Amino acid sequence: MTTPALILDNVRVSYGDGDSQVHALDGVSLQVNRGEFVAIVGHSGSGKSTLLAVAGALTTPNSGEVQVAGESITGLSDKDLARVRREHIGFVFQSSGNLPSALKARDQLELAARILGRRGRRSNDELLDAVGMSHRADHRPATLSGGERQRIGIARALVGGPDLLLVDEPTAALDRNRAHEIVRLLAHECHELGVAGVMVTHDLEVIEHCDRVYDMVDGRLTPRD
Ligand code: ADP
Ligand code: MG
Repeated sequence: MTTPALILDNVRVSYGDGDSQVHALDGVSLQVNRGEFVAIVGHSGSGKSTLLAVAGALTTPNSGEVQVAGESITGLSDKDLARVRREHIGFVFQSSGNLPSALKARDQLELAARILGRRGRRSNDELLDAVGMSHRADHRPATLSGGERQRIGIARALVGGPDLLLVDEPTAALDRNRAHEIVRLLAHECHELGVAGVMVTHDLEVIEHCDRVYDMVDGRLTPRD
């Protein structure tokens, strides 16, 4: 059996101290295997962004253990955390409003590949095809719809062939039909490419496309049956 792409073991993150201390993550344990797409549902302030920041090697926890693709990130320098992100992790953001406006869709992927200095086994054209955007390859973000920009954002996150895909509220800016399409696409790509996906959301409608669902309340995670 291969190691899970993500392991969180009794992870705690707190902000502030004394009476004003907030436990953003209060003993969180989670394992996500390659090819699995997992949803974490919680209200604003429940700790979702903190969980993604820890899983995404953007920050290290106060205590507990985090492993990404078998490597412990505890005690790593900022430089090594950046390497772990580059080598193993893809990020999809809320609205993919962060695509450089001057670049055509295909060039968004090319830029990402150059920055990473690596690519996965799929070419950029194959990725554009997989997200249903081949016919928009020469379009710039301003001429794409919200759903289309999100598709480019997903393709860009997959350019390096990540082990772990972290997705933050991907449906926030989309209508219902597009929301379902995007989450179905994310699940499909994780299954197809053997990527471990974690999506945080408060959109209860779309979690039917996920393999497992957890509720997050006050920094604690509980599996749904
Ligand atoms: P979510 O993404 O679910 O809205 P967050 O992870 O952003 O939740 O926040 C969890 C808790 O931690 C909240 O109570 C929030 O106010 C607090 N928090 C988050 N970031 C900071 C910070 N940098 N400093 C102090 N408190 C923070
Ligand atoms: Mg948040």
